[in-house]
Amino acid sequence: MLELFETNPNVNVQEAEYQRLLGLPKHYEMRTHIRELADAARQWYAENGRPWFYARQTDALQLANGKLRVGGMEFSSKQLHDQFTEAQADRAVLVAVSAGRECEERAQQLWRESKPDEYFFLEMYGSAVVEHLVTVASGRLCSWADQQGAAVLPNYSPGYSGWDIADQVRLWNLLQPNGARHFAGRLDVLETGMLRPKKSLLTVFGITRHLEKARSLARFIPCENCSLPNCQYRRAPYQHAPPQIEDVRTLLSHALENFDDRNNVFVLKTGARYTINPRALEKWSKERLRLEFLRDGGVEAGFHYEGTTCSNMGRPLEFDYRVRLAPPADQYRILEMHCAPAPGDTGHPFQCEYLNNAAALMDSIANEKPLLGRPLNDVLNWPREYNPSGCFCDLPRREHKWGLVLEVIHFALARHEQALPDGQAKIVLE
Ligand code: SF4
Repeated sequence: MLELFETNPNVNVQEAEYQRLLGLPKHYEMRTHIRELADAARQWYAENGRPWFYARQTDALQLANGKLRVGGMEFSSKQLHDQFTEAQADRAVLVAVSAGRECEERAQQLWRESKPDEYFFLEMYGSAVVEHLVTVASGRLCSWADQQGAAVLPNYSPGYSGWDIADQVRLWNLLQPNGARHFAGRLDVLETGMLRPKKSLLTVFGITRHLEKARSLARFIPCENCSLPNCQYRRAPYQHAPPQIEDVRTLLSHALENFDDRNNVFVLKTGARYTINPRALEKWSKERLRLEFLRDGGVEAGFHYEGTTCSNMGRPLEFDYRVRLAPPADQYRILEMHCAPAPGDTGHPFQCEYLNNAAALMDSIANEKPLLGRPLNDVLNWPREYNPSGCFCDLPRREHKWGLVLEVIHFALARHEQALPDGQAKIVLE
């Protein structure tokens, strides 16, 4: 039965990960004051930080009636349940990691001393340490699993999408009794699910013996979210940062407002020339756009389109667009694009092309994804026909609408980026 408690793990936070958590673009070069602040936080932690992690195997898994129980404790995460079921996980490893109390206490001291920039950089470094500790723990688990002819699945934590943060208490109740002697004075979990110190994480790794599944399906391969360098067990390149439970961007405004080269931190082109009238962009961004800022720094955008058919008595049309964007450090790359009639829309069957060939039209609407995989800024240089008529009957009209949607998103996010350093609300549009 695996049980690990490590009080002196190697903390080698990679510069790119640190920079990403600071909210700086990938190719931004830290200089002068920013460089000094970043180095000072790293140095303080190297001399004073006390990171640790704990991992314990449990075989007490039950998957029945759509419920996942671990050690008799029922968890509300459908995603974890489905992952365990599909990958035929027969064991799990429960893990706790922490950057240590000292880091949080020092950050609070800096805040009390009216040193918001120093506070911010240490907070971000603490977050980077937590992410790094998860990769170090992963390295140990992947090595252990490999020796047993098993594979580790991507980890999941309460607070991630679809898993109520309140389950943190249940997970803690599973971990705490066995690891009590290690945790004393090191970690507490409040009734709300909050961890003290907050630069800590509880997480669950599934283990499966079905290697063909674990190796062939990307969603069962944890390596895409694992930045551990030189891992001999790596099955896929590192691609995405892991999700963050703590929304560190709320702190950004205090730290970056004094930087003389602050324009360097904006990812989206400011003062952009849009094809759509700015007043229309402003109106639609307020009335038709909904932005959700995800824990991993990405953005989910929903846009509600309203128009009318060009013929057949001008029937009202309503379509919903949904776009998922990568975090700013990845240039808000367009990861997903979806377009479909809004629930209850009765106008789309009256479009001429629908009457002509309904299946072909709906297939085109669903599957045309211009600029998928490209940075959001590319919408500003996208050559397309100006064709503002209401229906979706041909490609130029559909592309015009996609251009409209992406420009509204760009307009709103560019404003959002500029608002952050002035201390305005994190989410400026509803
Ligand atoms: S890179 Fe993959 S195999 Fe290596 S520790 Fe990370 S998750 Fe495990």
